[in-house]
Amino acid sequence: MRATVTTEAIHPDLRRFSKKFSGKWVRRLPMPACSGKYLHPVAHGSRDGEGRWEHIGGARDLTPRRVSEEAPRKARSELAHEARITSLGVLTASIAHEVNQPLAAIICNGETSLRCLARPDLDVEQVRELTKRVVADARRACEIINRIRAMATRRARQPTPQSLADIVEESMLFLRHEFQSKDISISLDLAPGLPRVVGDRTRLQQVIVNLAINAVQAMARSGGRKILVRAILSDLETVCFMIEDSGTGIDPTHLPRLFDGFFTTKETGMGIGLAISRSIIESHDGHIRADNNSSLGGARFSFDLPANGAG
Ligand code: ADP
Repeated sequence: MRATVTTEAIHPDLRRFSKKFSGKWVRRLPMPACSGKYLHPVAHGSRDGEGRWEHIGGARDLTPRRVSEEAPRKARSELAHEARITSLGVLTASIAHEVNQPLAAIICNGETSLRCLARPDLDVEQVRELTKRVVADARRACEIINRIRAMATRRARQPTPQSLADIVEESMLFLRHEFQSKDISISLDLAPGLPRVVGDRTRLQQVIVNLAINAVQAMARSGGRKILVRAILSDLETVCFMIEDSGTGIDPTHLPRLFDGFFTTKETGMGIGLAISRSIIESHDGHIRADNNSSLGGARFSFDLPANGAG
């Protein structure tokens, strides 16, 4: 296509770019039925003998090339979305469990708070502390719901620098009632000043909560009642999380299949916690593993994440 037009008739975009065309600009023209044409216009502007602008322009149709370039990218994005929706379906039970925990904690702390308020020797500090816990648990429930919404939509994740120690502490707070009700003593050993890791806070928390719940369940079948949680710098570029328990340990013949989807030795288990944990850690460029080298006599699960930025 070749045309000579005056400044008045030329498309405003073409007029804007005509003086300094680099040849790299591609414009998408909307067409009926959501389709579009990708045109690569080239134009040159000069003044005629009387000083008026005159433009000579042409456009190459790049639509077939663009469509073939975009097809694999679109297919990948469709698949990723499909996988997220599928895992949301598979996750329904654990999502319900996760949302239920902060809600149960809110009810429990709210009731304790009401009992405190009814006492003649009202302890304002205690009520303040309980109310803070209610707010923190309500926030946690909101975050989980927001995360589910984010998973169901096509919005891209926005990984941000995170303090692994903060994520661990928050997860432990979340599980506080679980530990207390099962009489489990929990020790935290979080190295000070750990570098941050880049990632998704709620998903990393999900991994830690999965591993901790498994540790609690493993101890239900044994006499031990201790969990040790550590976060250390294993080398200058790697932050390592470890959870050790005093439970039954892992049957060595199960080790190769432990992280496979739907592998479970529990009567009511779903066998998805470790598979999802692995996929989350690997999507953060990390590595997760399991062994029986717990200093407490049971199982040890650990994951590494690349250290990124200042602590
Ligand atoms: P589920 O908890 O539903 O079984 P998981 O994927 O979380 O699914 O765990 C898979 C299996 O790994 C468990 O059934 C159990 O056999 C084993 N496992 C996980 N954590 C531990 C642990 N801390 N100690 C012993 N075995 C464990």
